[in-house]
Amino acid sequence: MVAAQIGARPATAATAMVIARALLEDLVAHAREEYDAECCGVIAYAPTDDGLAPEAVRVHRARNVFASPKRFEIDGKELLGAIEQFEDEGWDLGAIYHSHTHTEPYPSQTDINFAANWPGLEWVIVGLATEEPDVRCYLIEDGAVRELELEVR
Ligand SMILES: [Zn+2]
Repeated sequence: MVAAQIGARPATAATAMVIARALLEDLVAHAREEYDAECCGVIAYAPTDDGLAPEAVRVHRARNVFASPKRFEIDGKELLGAIEQFEDEGWDLGAIYHSHTHTEPYPSQTDINFAANWPGLEWVIVGLATEEPDVRCYLIEDGAVRELELEVR
């Protein structure tokens, strides 16, 4: 487990995440390409003024260490590399994403437990169980799950 706080944004009162359609499509494409396993990766956010919904600016695809359809983990070194790249651009690590290939895009207990190590990060889950992929965004704090609006531009 990598030290959680590195590069993570401080928690905000944001109620939405803003993402360009092309980036959203990239997330869904990644999930579909790795359909035999949960895909995973991280999303960079451009800094915003307090209270404004952060905007996703980069999707970094990562390898699922477990290559499993039931769980995921991003290799610590790869994660640090992505965070460094983001920081070079002046961005923050904003969200972790992964896919649920056969279940609804809602954080599992495993996700909720894992999120405890990543305070302030948002969770994007790409659900592939339905015909139309269902992408959702959450904040998971102290074991409580709060869904954020996904604003597609
Ligand atoms: Zn999950």
